[in-house]
Amino acid sequence: TTKRVYNFSAGPSTLPVSVLESIASKMLNYNDSGMSVMEMSHRSSSYLEIFNETKTMLKKVMNIPDNYQILFIQGGATQQFSTIPLNLMKNGKADYIVTGAFSKKSAQEAKKFGDVHIVYDGSERNFKHIPTQDELDLREDTSYVHLCSNNTIYGTEWKYVPDTHGVPIVADMSSNILSKPIQVSDYGMIYAGAQKNMGIAGLGVVIVREDLIQDHQDKIPVLMEYDTIAKNDSMYNTPPTFSIYVLGEVLKWIDDLGGLEVMQKINEEKAKLLYDYLDQSDFYQTHSNPDNRSIMNVTFTCPNKDLDALFVKESVKAGMTNLKGHRSVGGIRASIYNAMEKEGVEALVAFMKKFEEENG
Ligand code: PMP
Repeated sequence: TTKRVYNFSAGPSTLPVSVLESIASKMLNYNDSGMSVMEMSHRSSSYLEIFNETKTMLKKVMNIPDNYQILFIQGGATQQFSTIPLNLMKNGKADYIVTGAFSKKSAQEAKKFGDVHIVYDGSERNFKHIPTQDELDLREDTSYVHLCSNNTIYGTEWKYVPDTHGVPIVADMSSNILSKPIQVSDYGMIYAGAQKNMGIAGLGVVIVREDLIQDHQDKIPVLMEYDTIAKNDSMYNTPPTFSIYVLGEVLKWIDDLGGLEVMQKINEEKAKLLYDYLDQSDFYQTHSNPDNRSIMNVTFTCPNKDLDALFVKESVKAGMTNLKGHRSVGGIRASIYNAMEKEGVEALVAFMKKFEEENG
């Protein structure tokens, strides 16, 4: 096999090697169908088996209650920024909690469609912080409250579910879905782009409470009607067939490992390796506040920008890639999603130590 690097990309990101191997082994002839999954009609029995199994596995792994619909949609998470208000803003009002770049974008998009109230805006604190319950200025007569459960760019993560007095919470979980167990019934809707913990780009996953999608605004694009997508079991048109197949393979991998409890334990161990090292170092500074550090995206800086750039350059030579922080934050970002092996994080910590010794 060719040499693989430790890929710390924020997304699309690294996949489990066993998943890649399984897909590769069936590339020319999937389970005696005589063709690859990419070549299958989405209505064929071979493909429907894959599709149904993927849905069943997602339901099992996330323990999704029966009154929730699972929708597979093209257009990624960003498309949902528009689709959500068109379907869920029942009384023309929605509340948005802005904790990072993507929640800001989702609020901006929703403003096109109704009265959007910004419950909390973290920009003044440079998005280092997740609001506490006391800091949330929620309206009671609002259709839903939107939040982003993990801020991919800033490296912060919600550690609790806010009390919204019964108003449904809509959560963008793009960068931490499947990283730990959650109570699906705490949310009206959960959505994610698949290209981090779920698999590959091209697929958006929506998990939504049935009663919330009985109606929607008039005259909206048909592919944005959640009820139409649900009634047609995500096959109103051609779904992203291969991306759904990859999701199914990733879910089997998680299930074989022992499910989301085990996944969380592994993820916390990996994150601890990095944060423990960062905390005892005077050389590196973490971006996010300790209380709300993400276990998926670890953001930090070296003492100056030149050293940040040198860190990124030298890390490539050491077999690591995509450690450059997002342009809006700078510094370093290590995305350590489910599929990043512990060895990769250990290699990164060893590299950080060496870099500090040489440049501190
Ligand atoms: N939300 C979050 C939290 C993200 O991290 C991203 C992508 N990095 C998006 C939304 C946008 O997703 P997509 O590119 O699938 O539209």
